[in-house]
Amino acid sequence: MKTDITFTMVKPDAVNSGHIGLILDKITKAGFKFVAIKYTHLTIEQAGAFYEVHQERPFYRDLVTFMSSGPIVAAILQKENAVADFRKLIGTTDPSKADEGTIRKAFAKSIQENAVHGSDSNENATIEASFFFSNFERF
Ligand code: ADP
Ligand code: MG
Repeated sequence: MKTDITFTMVKPDAVNSGHIGLILDKITKAGFKFVAIKYTHLTIEQAGAFYEVHQERPFYRDLVTFMSSGPIVAAILQKENAVADFRKLIGTTDPSKADEGTIRKAFAKSIQENAVHGSDSNENATIEASFFFSNFERF
């Protein structure tokens, strides 16, 4: 059983900037194992559904437009304490406040175009992983 998992995306800004390889390398070096990975392009409907929890927030429409503006890399990651450790690795939502050494500090352009997604709880990690991957795509 793959229990201690989190879910991530390399967002369209970071893909477009050519940072897929550098970001996946940082994730690997931080001790995360890839359970599943795919390169895909979300439709507006899919991005809207993924971020449904934020639908009342003022940034929701822009976020959905941005997340469907180009391809992304989606992945399930496994590590002890995966959710919390991954949030630490990526840094704060607003990259201007992110710690040195974090992925968002290194690669994010703005609070919206912030390079990577990371699940905020074990429950959401499970939901988000299942949004993208079937059991046959997990190893
Ligand atoms: P996080 O990705 O750090 O968990 P949230 O779940 O609060 O952050 O927000 C989801 C995504 O929505 C963020 O990663 C970012 O792309 C975008 N976002 C969040 N807050 C804002 C904001 N104030 N203005 C524009 N976009 C935002
Ligand atoms: Mg979040």
